[in-house]
Amino acid sequence: MQTPASKSDSTPNQSQASTPGGAFESGPDARGHFGEYGGMYVAETLMAALHELRDQYEILKHDPEFQAQFDHDLARYVGRPSPLYHAKRLSDQIGGAQIYLKREDLNHTGSHKINNTVGQGLLAKHLGKTRVIAETGAGQHGVASATVAARLGLDCVVYMGATDIKRQSPNVYRMKLLGAEVIPVVSGSRTLKDALNEALRDWVASVDDTFYIIGTVAGPHPYPMLVRDFNSVIGREAREQFLADHDRLPDELIACVGGGSNAMGLFHPFIQDTEVAMTGVEAAGGGLSSGQHAASISAGRKGVLHGNRTYVLDNDAGQITETHSISAGLDYPGVGPEHAWLNDIGRARYVAVDDQETMDAFHRLCLTEGIIPALESAHAIAYAIKRAAELSPSHRLLVNLSGRGDKDVNTVAALEGITL
Ligand SMILES: *Cc1c(COP(=O)(O)O)cnc(C)c1O
Repeated sequence: MQTPASKSDSTPNQSQASTPGGAFESGPDARGHFGEYGGMYVAETLMAALHELRDQYEILKHDPEFQAQFDHDLARYVGRPSPLYHAKRLSDQIGGAQIYLKREDLNHTGSHKINNTVGQGLLAKHLGKTRVIAETGAGQHGVASATVAARLGLDCVVYMGATDIKRQSPNVYRMKLLGAEVIPVVSGSRTLKDALNEALRDWVASVDDTFYIIGTVAGPHPYPMLVRDFNSVIGREAREQFLADHDRLPDELIACVGGGSNAMGLFHPFIQDTEVAMTGVEAAGGGLSSGQHAASISAGRKGVLHGNRTYVLDNDAGQITETHSISAGLDYPGVGPEHAWLNDIGRARYVAVDDQETMDAFHRLCLTEGIIPALESAHAIAYAIKRAAELSPSHRLLVNLSGRGDKDVNTVAALEGITL
C-alpha cells in the first residue's frame, strides 16, 4: 500500500516501469503483520527504535535520491544486474522442463546477501548511526555486513556462536580482515539462535548510535519488509530478463529457504502474476522424520522467534531446537513471516530436500554447467532437477542460484574423505 504522502507513484523509473509496483512494493499491514504472522515481539526499549526505522524507511523508500544511491551501489559495487542463464546441458540431460538460473553467485562477496546489507548500510548512514551489529551462523551474513561497514566507515560488531566460530574459521578471519570485531557467544548451544539473542541484547543497550543489520526476512517489523524490498532487485531483474528473452513469464520460480530472503527477493515481484508458481525449498537434512533438519514450514509449528510470529522448530517445552543441514546457511530454526503466510494462503508451496539429494545436485551442476553452487543453492537445484523431469520441454523453471560454492569446498571434500 502506497502512503498518501508518497510522490513516487508518478515518478517514472525506467528500469522498473514494466514491473507491478516499484522498487519497494507494498508491505505488510501497518503493524507488520502478514496474516497472523510477523509483528514486533521485542523488549519495550526497542519499540521506539523500530518505529523510527519504520517511519524513516517509509520516507526513504520513496526518496529518489536514496533509491538512486542504492541502484548505483548495486551496479558499481555489487556488479548488478546478475545474468539470467539457461542451463541447457543440464536441461537436455534431464529431458524435461528448461532450467534457467538467476546468477546471484556472481555478486560481490558471492551471494544475494550483499543486496540487503548494502541497503541496510545506507539506512544506517541516513539514520546517523556510527556502529552496526549483526549476528551470523555460517558467517556469510557477518562477512556481508563487515563488507559494507568497511566501505561506509562504520564500526562493526558481529555476534557468532562459539561453536560456529570453530566450524567457520575462514569466514571469521574474513570478517577480521574487513575490520569487524567478532564476539563469541558462549550461552546455550553456542550457535545461531544464541547469537540472535545476544545481538538483540546489545541493541537494547546501544540503540542510540547502533544499527542492527538483520540478514534475512525475519526479525521484528519492519525488517521482514525491508530485507525483502532490498532483495527484490533479484525478481525485478529476472522478470525483465525473462520477458526480454522469451516474451512470457516462467512457469515456476524455485529458491532455497533458510530464513527466506533470496526466495522472497525472487518471488515478490511475481506475486501478482498468479500463473507463475512459486516453490520454496527447505533443508530436510538427514530426513524430515529423523528430526535432523531445518524445515520450519514443512515440519515446524507456529511460535515466536527473533521478534516475530512464524513457523519455528521447537520442542514440547517451547525451546527452540538445533537445526541440521549440510549447508550452514539454511540452518535457521524459523522462517520469514511472509513465507509462513504465503504457505497458508497457498500462493507459494514449500518442499524439503535432504542432504544426499543436495550433494547429488551439487556435483551434477559442477559437471554439466561448470558452475560450483553454494550448498544452500544446491537444494533449489535438486528440487528443480526432480521437477523438470516431471514436465515437458515447453515448461520453464527459473531457479535462484543464491550463491557460489567456493566457501563449501572444504565441506564437500571432507564428505569424500579428503582434507584440503
Ligand atoms: C544465507 C544464504 C542462504 C539462506 O538465506 P535466505 O535468507 O533463506 O536466503 C541461501 N543461499 C546462500 C548462498 C546463503 O549464503
